[in-house]
Amino acid sequence: MEHKPVRAIFPGSFDPITNGHLDVIQRGVKLFDQLIVAVGQNPTKNELFSLDERVEMITELVKDMPRVIVESYECLTVKFAAEKKVDVMLRGLRNLTDVQYEFQLAMTNRSVAGIETIFVMTSEEYGFVNSTMVREVALLGGDVSKLIPPFVYEKIKKRLSKKQ
Ligand code: ADP
Repeated sequence: MEHKPVRAIFPGSFDPITNGHLDVIQRGVKLFDQLIVAVGQNPTKNELFSLDERVEMITELVKDMPRVIVESYECLTVKFAAEKKVDVMLRGLRNLTDVQYEFQLAMTNRSVAGIETIFVMTSEEYGFVNSTMVREVALLGGDVSKLIPPFVYEKIKKRLSKKQ
């Protein structure tokens, strides 16, 4: 039987992209023929980076991964997945709270759009990292350098020095 290439989408707001997200991308790229990192709107109002800036940063970080592409989207995630003709949704799991929320999300997406979700567990060292906390700690001057890629840390420092 001929092998049909499997395309997956990894959706999120990535404001900013963290070492946890990057870990999920590195694991996901081994599982699929193509992985689309789909950058959506930050649902909270206190955006750190614009959609275009987030896409630009992630594109730079994955430049050596030929099977990964980065795109922004503004519609419902499953609609974007259908437009892109992807077969599966990739999501990361950090802890039991994630499991509960992600389980509901995956069931909803399967029910409304027939799309399957595949989960990967993050590596232990990034299990507590989330973008909201990185954003809040960074805005108040905390050192988030261990939680995000160095390139993103430099961008945050620049952004904050302009604000002051
Ligand atoms: P966050 O939850 O950090 O605000 P997103 O909304 O962009 O980030 O999350 C997109 C996906 O990435 C979700 O599946 C989320 O569970 C996963 N994710 C986020 N941070 C991590 C992490 N540290 N380890 C594993 N998965 C993560």
